[in-house]
Formats: sequence, C-alpha cells, structure tokens
Amino acid sequence: MGLLSEGSPLTWEKTKSLADHVRKHGIKQFIHQYRQLKNLTKDVLYWGDEVEYMLVKFNRSQHKAQLSLKAEPVLEKLQEKEKLSPDDHPSTWRPEYAAYMVEGTPGKPYGGLMAHFNLVESNMKLRREEIQHLLEEDEVPLSLTCFPRIGCPEFTSPSYKPTPQEGASHSLFFPDNVIYPGHPRFRTLTRNIRQRRGEKVAINIPVFKDKHTKSPFVEDYQPLGDDGEGQRAAKPDHIYLDAMGFGMGCSCLQVTFQACNITEARHLYDQLTPLCPILLSLSAASPIYRGLLADIDCRWTVISQSVDDRVKEERGEELLKNYRYRINKSRYDSIDSYLSYDSVCYNDIDLVYDKELFSELQDAGIDKLLSQHIAHLFIRDPISLFSEKIDQDDTTDTDHFENIQSTNWQTMRFKPPPPNSNIGWRVEFRPMEVQLSDFENAAYVVFIVLLTRVILTFKLNFLIPISKVDENLIAAQKRDSVREGKFYFRKDVLTGSSPPEASECCGERPKCCNIEDEYDLFSVDEIINGKGSDFPGLIPLMNMYLDVIDVDVDTRCTVAQYINLISKRASGELLTTARWMRNFVAKHPSYHGDSVVNEEVNFDLLELCRKVSAGEASCPELSPCYSSRTTEDIPPAVIKAEAKLQTKKQANMTHDNRASNSLKATS
Ligand code: ADP
Ligand code: MG
Ligand code: MG
Repeated sequence: MGLLSEGSPLTWEKTKSLADHVRKHGIKQFIHQYRQLKNLTKDVLYWGDEVEYMLVKFNRSQHKAQLSLKAEPVLEKLQEKEKLSPDDHPSTWRPEYAAYMVEGTPGKPYGGLMAHFNLVESNMKLRREEIQHLLEEDEVPLSLTCFPRIGCPEFTSPSYKPTPQEGASHSLFFPDNVIYPGHPRFRTLTRNIRQRRGEKVAINIPVFKDKHTKSPFVEDYQPLGDDGEGQRAAKPDHIYLDAMGFGMGCSCLQVTFQACNITEARHLYDQLTPLCPILLSLSAASPIYRGLLADIDCRWTVISQSVDDRVKEERGEELLKNYRYRINKSRYDSIDSYLSYDSVCYNDIDLVYDKELFSELQDAGIDKLLSQHIAHLFIRDPISLFSEKIDQDDTTDTDHFENIQSTNWQTMRFKPPPPNSNIGWRVEFRPMEVQLSDFENAAYVVFIVLLTRVILTFKLNFLIPISKVDENLIAAQKRDSVREGKFYFRKDVLTGSSPPEASECCGERPKCCNIEDEYDLFSVDEIINGKGSDFPGLIPLMNMYLDVIDVDVDTRCTVAQYINLISKRASGELLTTARWMRNFVAKHPSYHGDSVVNEEVNFDLLELCRKVSAGEASCPELSPCYSSRTTEDIPPAVIKAEAKLQTKKQANMTHDNRASNSLKATS
C-alpha cells in the first residue's frame, strides 16, 4: 500500500483542518521533483511484481479454515534479511491492511534481459517458502484474492467480536482487531474515511441468485447490533458489507515498470489503460464475499466502495453546499485521463480538478495534461496525517505529495522518481487479481511485462475513449465476463499514432476528434488470441516478437507455458479461478443451492486451494501445470549471450529494430 510514514496519527478534525496545507505543499514538492527530474533518463528496463498473501489456519478436526492474525510477528521475521543486508536480500516484505496479510516483492527489481522472465516464478516460490517456514504446521500462506467467509462469525484466529458502536470501522461484521496492528496508518485511514463520509462505508454486491436463494434476498442486521444504519444502507438482493477491511483485506497482483524517460512512462500509462479491464476479466478470482456467492467475479468494485470517502454532496445525492466538487468516482477507481498528447482525442471524461493547483503547476512550466492529472488527484483530502510530518522541506521531502498520490488507488499509477534514489519514472499496473499458484501469478506478470515490450517495439496503439474503458471495467467484473462479456477495443492496433490533429492541440480535446469508427466490441478471446484476418490478437503479436529476439531455450519454454495459460483462459478452454471456485461450491454436497458458502464448503475449497498452490492437486481445468522450468539464477552462458547483444545494440542493431522490421514484413 505504498509508503508508510511513521509517527502519531492526527484526528480527522485536525487532519481536515490541515488538508489545504498538505495539498499546497504536496504540489510544491511535486513541482520541485519534476523540475529536478523531468529530463532523467534510464536505459535499463526495471520491473517487479507485488504479491499479497493471506495467512490461513486449517482446523482439521473441526473442518474450519480461518484467517490467522499473525502478520505482525511473521513480518518482523520476514524483514530480518532485508535489515541485515539492505542491498542484497532475495525478497522484500511490507505490511498490508489486514492482520492476516503480508505483501512480498522480489528483493531487487528485474532487469531488461529476457532471461529475467525465468526468475519470477522461482522468486515467488521462494517467498511462499519464506512465509511457510515461519508458520505452524496447520497454517499456510495463500495467494487468495478474497477469503470466502470474510466477515462471517469467527472468520479469524483468534476470533473477535465486531464493535458496531465504537472503534475505527463501526462494522457489524469486521472487527477492528483484524486491521493490521503494527502501524497506525491502517486504523487511521479506516476511521477517517468513515468520519469524512459522515457514515459507514456501504458496499453492496449483487448476490448470485441460485435455485434456493431467498428472494428477495434480505438480511436482518439487528441481532448484530445494527442501529438502523446497516438496514438503510443494504440493498435488497445484494450482499451488504460495511467496512474498509472487506476491500483492503483483499489481495492483488501488481506490476511496476520503469520507463526510459517521462515521455515513455506517460505513453505506457496510456497504452496499458485499455488493458486494465481485460486483465481484470482474465484474472477474475473472487466470487464469494461474507460466505455468499456474488454475481460478480472480481474484487474491484468491493474495494472501490470500501474506501469511498465522498460525502453525499460529492456523490451527487445532494446539492453542493459545503463541498467543492461533484466527484464521479471513489478514490479507488479507474483513471479519468490519458497523459500523452497523442491520446488527447480519447480523453472524453469531464475531468474534475483543482483549478488553483492546476494554475500553479502550469505556471511552474508543467504541461497541461500532466498538470491536470496531478490537480485531479489533488481534489481529494489527505485521509491520514502524522503529527511529525506536518512541517516539511518542500525541496527535499515528498511526503505530502505521496500522501495524496498513494491514497488515489487507481487502475494505473504514474510514479515520479522518489527523492535521493537511483530510480526513474515508473508506471504501475494495478487491476489484476492474485492467482493461487506461483506459476499462474508469474504467467500474468510476465504476460503484462512482455506486452509492454511488444507495445514499444511494434508501436502498438490500444487507445479508445476513456469512457469506454470505464464501461469495460464494469463489464469485466460481471460473472463469467471472460466467456460472455464484450469489450470495446481498438480495431487497428497497428496504427502507431493517433489522429494527427490531436498531437497539435496542446492538451485540449479538439471538436473534430472522429474516433467512433476506431473501436468495436470484442470478446476477451478475440482480443487475446485474435479474430481471423480482422484482428491479429495480442498473443500472436507477442509470439512474433518472441520469434525475432534472442531468448535462451529455458526462458523461451517457460514463457511459452505462461502464454499458453493466458491464451487458454481467454478462449475459455481453461477456467478463471472465479469460475473454478463457483463450480467447486455448486458441486459440494454441503451446498444447498442457496448461495451460502458454509464452513464446510469453505474448508474444503481452501484445502483444495492450498493443494493447488503447493502443486499437490492437479486441476487441469484451471491450469495445465503448476511449475515451469524457472530458475533461481540466470546461467552464465545466457548472461554472456546477452552481453553480446548489448554490443550489437551499440552497433545500432537493436533487437527492437529487427522485431519492428519483421512486423512490417508480415503485417
Ligand atoms: P508500491 O508503490 O506499490 O509500494 P513498490 O515501490 O514497493 O510499490 O515496488 C513495486 C515493485 O517495483 C516491486 O516489485 C519492486 O521490485 C519494483 N521496483 C523497484 N525498483 C524499481 C525500479 N527502479 N523500476 C521498476 N520497478 C522497480
Ligand atoms: Mg499492496
Ligand atoms: Mg503497489
């Protein structure tokens, strides 16, 4: 969850009174950073993944699986290696929202060699082993997007009772003790979001209506201590959830890339944006919430609603009186604007932004699109502030900027280089759901990183109106969207640049943008695998790229397995994790066709998840295999071969050029 500042959290009232202070200095900090670093270039591609794990405890005698609230002591041990040797450790560990979660990343980012693709899975395996090593015999780290019985009685070990009338969440279901206790940030965010909003967050997820599901599906929350707020907020035929933990207590899979300069970072940010819904659909893994089958397959809307701190005026439910903006989305949502000048025609959402801060950014020489983007992020209030961090030196600190930036949890994140580091301009790809096995997670990560190479090399163009990306994001979360959904996608992805008038228009969307003919509705299968002679498909393009670059045999073989998984998930030949879980529940003898996932079903499902993660069970309908020829180190011969390639590059024979020539010859 980004940067964790240490210190004592302020009350919401105090934080609110300092909101303008944080914004004012946050902007100054960004301007300072931008001026220092706008021309920073990096010739090495760096990238890395983030995987969030849940600690699950299996009580085999009682047939009960619970979340183990041990993250704090486990994390302390996990971080020892990093503390001992900050420059050389195999994995990096960070806390996450819940007391049952840890987040792991590789110890250092991967580089530009193709052979690095072969290290990802091995490092993920190692991370899983590192956690496992610190757990009891009946405990397991699972890379599970959502714990099916999250928020049910006794869903954690130890178990706690929720406190609906006091504490941070006031939840009927999710006790505050389940929030990570080791850092005050998480509780503070929870309390402040609730207080800013003026009521509890209200998450309503359509329930999956099975043969025997109550109809209408309504629940009585009075026995749980509801004072009427829950009953009013809950919609019929929906699963009602009322705490930040239901969203932020989900796990995800993220990838960060370093671009060679700010322009390339903005370009990649834009080009990956239309892919967010597609990869969300392909990675769908969370069909069950609070012990009930949902009619959605993905966590996204759950998290989005779980941190929605907008008041009624901002949400458009009351006239604007005391607040400044009508805001169309939660802080956790899809992005609202592209960042490159080639993309201007596709920025068709009315962007809400802070006009004063925008002018300040412009006056500082920052171009219109980037100024708008930052001023848009800065319509939000800071929702946690620490007393020690109020007064800062805007020429050296970036905490106020990061405060706002890191609580805009969007599908893509544009990351400026941190101060005093050797890091360049980066973008983060954030929509994907985490998969059960290291093999699958490595496949999704490698797929998306490889795609960035293909985009840059073949100068692919995926732009569609950003409002259509929003529609796609909603479509992606629907049940079985991979097999049944239709998504707007660009028909001709080989048209390197966008309409010529766009690049000349200085960031203003020209009236003449005529782009309605550029996109059409596609299935995920057609986007990924192609549609006859009409559309090449991302994987065939990727394979063309792989055919012309130098790859060692092992890496090629691993990458082929990964691509095969993605291809078959897209075609429906293999199931998404969400569909696989639904099938399991439907067939379980203790499931009564009433949408309820009881302890027994939960236990057996998680036991099978555990086996899939460990490679002990084979589920060929989910994945054809659970391990590749991944290695811990790149063989010296491969490094030597890559060194040769570097020499070739210097002689102006880059593999990128060769690949791009080959595309011209074949397209
Ligand atoms: P977040 O902003 O989500 O907290 P982190 O900064 O912790 O993300 O890192 C996310 C990923 O970025 C990790 O996998 C890490 O290895 C990788 N990473 C670290 N340095 C770089 C870099 N210079 N360029 C690209 N990725 C990097
Ligand atoms: Mg995280
Ligand atoms: Mg991240």
